[in-house]
Amino acid sequence: MVLLQDLTLSELNQYLTENYGVKPFVGKQIYQWLTKSVDFDGMTNVPKALREQLKQNCVAVSCKIIQTLTSALDGTQKFLFELHDGNVIEGVLMKYKYGNTLCVSSQVGCRMGCKFCASTLGGLVRNLSAGEILGQVLAVNALGNGKERYVTNIVLMGSGEPLDNFDNVVKFLQLVSDVDGINVSERNISLSTCGVVPKIRALADMGFSLNLTLSLHNADNDERKQIMPISNAYSVEEAVSACRYYFQKTGRRVIIEYTLIDKQNDSYAHALKLASLLSDMSVHVNVIALNPVKETGLKGTSESNLKKFIGNLEKLGVSATRRRTMGQDIEGACGQLRRRYLEGGNGN
Ligand code: SAH
Repeated sequence: MVLLQDLTLSELNQYLTENYGVKPFVGKQIYQWLTKSVDFDGMTNVPKALREQLKQNCVAVSCKIIQTLTSALDGTQKFLFELHDGNVIEGVLMKYKYGNTLCVSSQVGCRMGCKFCASTLGGLVRNLSAGEILGQVLAVNALGNGKERYVTNIVLMGSGEPLDNFDNVVKFLQLVSDVDGINVSERNISLSTCGVVPKIRALADMGFSLNLTLSLHNADNDERKQIMPISNAYSVEEAVSACRYYFQKTGRRVIIEYTLIDKQNDSYAHALKLASLLSDMSVHVNVIALNPVKETGLKGTSESNLKKFIGNLEKLGVSATRRRTMGQDIEGACGQLRRRYLEGGNGN
């Protein structure tokens, strides 16, 4: 099956011309429908015979919304998307005053094995293609009833490690910022990584103006290894140095994500170690308390400890704020996204 949302306009035209003798203006019409997440049956200005032929070999809508859960707390929405092979992934839409931010998945499952995260519980099933990452954005954007950009900001912070699926993520960035497509600026896109150092450097070299977030969670190598296996491959110093390189190359400030786990990484000594690791760097630290994931047995830090930790970082000269947690009641918050059907449930 050819996933048409994987293709740029010129790739689509080439494919359609070579295989179906389609003229570029029809190709452009199809591309516009794909951008609106419309399936073949809805492509009303495309000849029916061609649509029937395409149905045999191609997938038009790579991600179909099969369920939507809305948070009673803050209106955050979690979507279950079905992929053409029956796999299910999750995405979350957070509504802010300045616009809507969609958190997308980059893989079905994840192989990074972070001890506190739900996405990695069943391991990696497969990478998402560029069009499947894009498809999540297009499907949700289409809910905006014709508003060109209902989704104004995108964060690659759902299931998966985006830098473990590097080529497809890079192609996704090209597709989503295409002027013939929905044209979301890279400045409105953030990529979060657990610290795949060579790929951070490779991304920096590609010249995107994308925002980068490093999920650090502990500045001590031995302790970080206990919760994040990626630390066996790259030290915190190497990860931070790659971030520094990213900043030099792109001019984009890096965000450090720090999730506080009760009694594991939330002491004054931890704040001190973090401050010294980041001392010569222009970064901002986003602090949150761990969100519950029942299988992990780990607990988030207390409210008072969280405030104390942020206060300590500030005193130590590190810019830090608490990150608002959204959609917690629908398990739509950081680290709570998972392959829902593994449990045999449907998200309720
Ligand atoms: N693999 C990438 C993208 C996932 S982003 C990465 O690691 O950055 C998801 C963010 O939520 C990461 O910062 C991750 O470390 C964090 N996270 C995972 N589980 C969490 C949990 N239970 N509570 C709070 N944050 C969590």
